[in-house]
Amino acid sequence: MESIRRTKIVDLLRKKKEFGATVDVKGWVRTIRGNKYVSFIHLNDGSTIHNLQIVADVEKFGEAFFKPVTTGACIHVVGTLVESQGKGQTMEIQADTIEIYGTADPETYPLQKKGHSLEFLREIAYLRPRTNTFGAIFRIRHHMSYAIHKYFNDNGFFYFHTPIVTASDAEGAGSMFQVTTLDFNNTPRNDKGQVDYSEDFFGRQTNLTVSGQLEGELGAMSLGAIYTFGPTFRAENSNTPRHLAEFWMIEPEVAFYDINDNMDLAEDFLKYLIKYALEHCKDDIDFLSEHFDKELVERLNFVIANDFVRLTYTEGVEILEKSGQKFEFPVYWGADLQSEHERYLVEKHFKRPVILTDYPKEIKSFYMKQNEDGKTVRGMDVLFPKIGEIIGGSEREADYDKLVNRTKELGMNTDPIWWYMETRKFGTAPHAGFGLGFERLILFITGMANIRDVIPFPRTPNNAEF
Ligand code: ATP
Ligand code: MN
Repeated sequence: MESIRRTKIVDLLRKKKEFGATVDVKGWVRTIRGNKYVSFIHLNDGSTIHNLQIVADVEKFGEAFFKPVTTGACIHVVGTLVESQGKGQTMEIQADTIEIYGTADPETYPLQKKGHSLEFLREIAYLRPRTNTFGAIFRIRHHMSYAIHKYFNDNGFFYFHTPIVTASDAEGAGSMFQVTTLDFNNTPRNDKGQVDYSEDFFGRQTNLTVSGQLEGELGAMSLGAIYTFGPTFRAENSNTPRHLAEFWMIEPEVAFYDINDNMDLAEDFLKYLIKYALEHCKDDIDFLSEHFDKELVERLNFVIANDFVRLTYTEGVEILEKSGQKFEFPVYWGADLQSEHERYLVEKHFKRPVILTDYPKEIKSFYMKQNEDGKTVRGMDVLFPKIGEIIGGSEREADYDKLVNRTKELGMNTDPIWWYMETRKFGTAPHAGFGLGFERLILFITGMANIRDVIPFPRTPNNAEF
């Protein structure tokens, strides 16, 4: 037989081949059933949530042939594409040849049975992309990555690569992973007994980045509008369903934007991404909706259709104080809002996404633009149903003296970010930006409840095996 090329199942379902054509498919067996005369194999190749039915004549292959063709086995089928007589599919393949690439012993294959819990699947993260659920999630992740680049490219933003290894600490918190080549069993010490980092690889203490913002601002102050999209690392020991130690962040930064422009960008960007998902990931979203979250599609459409509420932190706190709601953490002016507070505003009070602005300076970073009142800064958090904070951003303080004063008030050592401070000396400009947590976006779009389930290899405290 003349050799033909493999066709992906997604392309067959898109009718890229005529009935009667000889086709070549490869994939993993999801199920196999049948009788003495015929075997039905449901094959999935990862290109779509949908399986392809392979029909094999038992007499032709011999009964023994099918013994090793079990759930999880990988096979290569050549056969004729025909219209299906059965329920549940429009087409199927009448197999001429079946080659077994790899078997999966039913006694030991962890995914032999259906219906495993998400918790169990996290323990076999190396295999879970083989399941319908994780196939759907990771395809959506791909489409959203593409949509993010497309949105910014179409809107004149440049993708600016900020470093992963840095000597700065954007958040001023002690939540960083150190990067070093020093030998812990024999660390060089200075005469005060402190570790001598001049002996380290970079000649200074370095860590994995917690945000690309500070370097991103340098991009905005030259290219005008940039975005970063890369991995971010935070060693916060918070075992929550919304925090990872390694996550991906998208950070646009724009010269000449004030906080209102910044809010407009955040709202337009999020709505674009959700719309893109509904248009390009429909089958996967429908699957996840059916199995995990019946209101998913409705919620996604609702966010697209409605304006986000915009109000100040002060107004938000007033609403929370008057709500009569019992919260685990107390609310008062000056408190850092917890997810329960954010979700109350979004889900119970406004029933819409909310953008809170003008936070007390004490709970926000040094670089946020200071308001006239001397108490608040021009920060903004976008709060979403089920998620809480999905975006955090601000207009940045563009005035050199004000920025320096704030770092002094905070007792910050600005030596490691002297270059950042200099941007306010040479051609400073009003500018603004924000950070969108990619996995929080994927949580929202997939309707999943735990952030460990929307990244292929989650890194959390005590968990980095695979
Ligand atoms: P939170 O208060 O939820 O811990 P944050 O205020 O520390 O978040 P920012 O520093 O504002 O977060 O980071 C910008 C965005 O990055 C957040 O709005 C969120 O979407 C995402 N993000 C922050 N920390 C994490 C994390 N540990 N895991 C996943 N996403 C995160
Ligand atoms: Mn934040």
